Amino acid sequence: MKNAQINLPWLVRIKAGALQRLGLYLARPGLTPVGLFHSEGLLESILNVARQSLRDHGVATALLHEVKEASIEEAVHLLNAVPSVCRALIGVGGGKALDVAKYTASLAELPYFAVPTSLSNDGFCSPQASLTLEGQRRSLPTGLPEAVVVDLAVCQRAPRMLWHSGVGDLSAKFTAVSDWKLAFQRKGVPVNDLAALMSDASVFQFMANPVSDEQGIQLLATALMLNGVAMEIAGSSRPASGSEHLISHALDMTGARQRLHGLQTGTAAYLVSSLQRGSHHERIGELFTRTGFWESVRKQPFSKEEWRIAVERAPSVKEDFYTILSEGDAWPEFARMIADDKALSGCFE
Ligand SMILES: [Zn+2]
Repeated sequence: MKNAQINLPWLVRIKAGALQRLGLYLARPGLTPVGLFHSEGLLESILNVARQSLRDHGVATALLHEVKEASIEEAVHLLNAVPSVCRALIGVGGGKALDVAKYTASLAELPYFAVPTSLSNDGFCSPQASLTLEGQRRSLPTGLPEAVVVDLAVCQRAPRMLWHSGVGDLSAKFTAVSDWKLAFQRKGVPVNDLAALMSDASVFQFMANPVSDEQGIQLLATALMLNGVAMEIAGSSRPASGSEHLISHALDMTGARQRLHGLQTGTAAYLVSSLQRGSHHERIGELFTRTGFWESVRKQPFSKEEWRIAVERAPSVKEDFYTILSEGDAWPEFARMIADDKALSGCFE
């Protein structure tokens, strides 16, 4: 059985100084004017570099918008605000602005340029947008961005906690792929081997050099991007999202104190991987020790009680989504680890 046609990004630039060339990337295929959406509170200096680059290459900005909330309501409002002359939409900044820009571009059927300024999760190049509808978080299909522009120098200046969040979200791929294979064994859910392989391989590449220097950030950006592409190839979120994401979604839904997505999914992946009994638990543990991941978690420890409730609800967060959490109550083992595992000391209160 062949996959239906998939659309992959036609421009990928992951290098230092890429932001200064943004205008060129749009000017070459004649994409002007554009709409530019950026994060609330994005450093003026970063926004100025982007805007100056557009001007330098004769790319007009027909709409400039600061994204304050990642909701479907906001995206629909923006869809009406996008001038009909716009030839492309650009999202510059963090998750919210990118999700809103990506979804609005897909509604408007315009090419979308993703320009993340930090690497806190794999959403910048995933085929879906995470937005709220009447306050409830939803994942909406969008297709992949047409272009991904990651300026390594800009990402390197982002707070370390955001980098840790990206590391956490990447580690979730180990547990996600294990869950996918389990769903195949138990329920016959088809596994796309190429997508699973890409997802796995990208993590190993980064793990060979898990540091936050320019090369390490390049590997992390590439790995997170390939995870998004793996989702598109598989036609599902399975390569990048398993039981660890169910726990994270449950935390978001149950009104737990907000933490960075990747700190939640990474910590959940560490716990879940111990239930999965493979070699992943040790690997994730080593990755987190080498990168100092737990330091960022300890800065704002999780609530054990909020996690207990989330773990209880997690199996029913998504319909027909078999994972290791479907096999029985995971909490007793998690509680034991939270109490005894030295790596987790100070991470929960
Ligand atoms: Zn994620």
